[in-house]
Amino acid sequence: MILVTGGAGFIGSHTCVELLDAGYEIAIIDNFCNSRPEVLDKIRTISGKDFKFYEADLLERDKVEQIFEENEIEAVIHFAGLKAVGESVQIPLQYYHNNITSTLILCETMAKYGCKKLVFSSSATVYGDPASVPIREDFPLHTTNPYGSTKLMIEQILRDLYVSDNEWSIALLRYFNPIGAHESGLIGENPNGIPNNLVPYVAQVAVGKLECLSVFGDDYNTHDGTGVRDFIHVVDLSRGHVKAVEKVKSTSGAHAYNLGTGTGYSVLDIVKAYEKACGRKINYKIAPRRPGDIAMCYADPEKSKKELGWQAEYDIEKMCKDSWNFTIKNS
Ligand code: NAD
Ligand code: UDP
Repeated sequence: MILVTGGAGFIGSHTCVELLDAGYEIAIIDNFCNSRPEVLDKIRTISGKDFKFYEADLLERDKVEQIFEENEIEAVIHFAGLKAVGESVQIPLQYYHNNITSTLILCETMAKYGCKKLVFSSSATVYGDPASVPIREDFPLHTTNPYGSTKLMIEQILRDLYVSDNEWSIALLRYFNPIGAHESGLIGENPNGIPNNLVPYVAQVAVGKLECLSVFGDDYNTHDGTGVRDFIHVVDLSRGHVKAVEKVKSTSGAHAYNLGTGTGYSVLDIVKAYEKACGRKINYKIAPRRPGDIAMCYADPEKSKKELGWQAEYDIEKMCKDSWNFTIKNS
């Protein structure tokens, strides 16, 4: 059985569907601090399969131990964490406590029960402002906010853990910009309040909930002056986790992998693709750069292709189409 922490969240829910489709039994732990219980039934509906669910906080060690007592957990995918960059600057201690302490409790419990296979949700944010693109896994690591620092610190903790005990097998998955939704339109990204991220914001402009997108900067050194990112369909990203589980089951070590498409699209490319997907005009205005943003960020996904046997399949049209389908079905 695979334990999925944060399995009710955006990426976790899609990954649970892919794991169930691949024939894995799963258990989920989530405290719903950034997700909703309804997601669980949607995972069941899409997959046609059932699974165990524990409503608990990873910080509650006895609850985590209970999961390992009650189930034969062979590997863990660890999604649970707080992820809003701006909020992490406001409440850093909560970010360090929630993200790092929960990972320590999880790993201590895994060690206690002899489960030493782990797939961890890291982020391309650990590359900071890269000297060049595409970004390879061996590029220097650097962070600029507490959220990013939690990811980098956890990566280091997990590498140290492997050095201390070579039985561990750990995949550090560095995600680029996951967008889109399951094509059923049942699960997707549903942020509370005004979205921080580009595509959820564009979706709300398209559906009429928000007036106008602010494009943060049009004077970057990119093909149209707006920021360039490696947007990846969340289903492709989720399939990367199934491959990573297979990898950690068959080897040992602590290895980082980029999960991106290798192609960069600008903010205005996204606006155009979304307009095409929804058949509506997206109002936008050029606004000042957002502090902390970088010009360009996209992956070199070769290592993942070679070592995980994974690559992204879906293009930007499919990402926008599935995002729009989810948006109209859920607003
Ligand atoms: P999400 O917020 O949708 O999912 C995280 C889930 O973890 C939520 O369901 C939340 O309720 C749960 N959770 C948080 N803290 C918990 C705790 N202490 N105990 C139990 N459950 C807890 O986020 P997501 O977009 O699915 O991201 C998943 C992971 O991937 C996170 O670690 C995030 O930092 C990382 N990541 C996300 C992105 C992105 O753009 N979405 C990019 C890079 C990395
Ligand atoms: N962006 C924007 N307007 C928004 C939100 C984001 O122009 O309302 C831009 C942002 O400046 C960046 C890109 O869209 O260039 C992706 O931002 P997002 O927050 O989605 O992801 P990030 O790469 O910052 O994690």
